Amino acid sequence: MQYRCPKCQSVKIMPVNQGTTTSTRPVVPKSLVILLPSIFILLLLVLISLSMWIFGHGAGTNLQIATVVVFVVVAGSGLMFWRDLPDFKLSMQAFMQSQKYWKCRECHHEWQI
Ligand SMILES: [Zn+2]
Repeated sequence: MQYRCPKCQSVKIMPVNQGTTTSTRPVVPKSLVILLPSIFILLLLVLISLSMWIFGHGAGTNLQIATVVVFVVVAGSGLMFWRDLPDFKLSMQAFMQSQKYWKCRECHHEWQI
């Protein structure tokens, strides 16, 4: 089982959906669903705070509270995702192994396992 293109050795490969078979989807843990957008929001809040500091007014109290709240959410869901990670890996591996048809995004080579 290799996750590389047999032609150009690129790792940028993707499974080709055959349509006929209802392939098993990887089970995405809820913690990851929460973690990803909250990281994005945290980055946004930090950027806003930083720009407010730079322009001399300092970050507002509401903004500081919001940043702390979002940070706690990120930390909490990050911790939960850390615990979900072994299951998520197994589910991803099962998904990868269930895929028979692959396509390379670099050279558009298609092959079957
Ligand atoms: Zn290739």
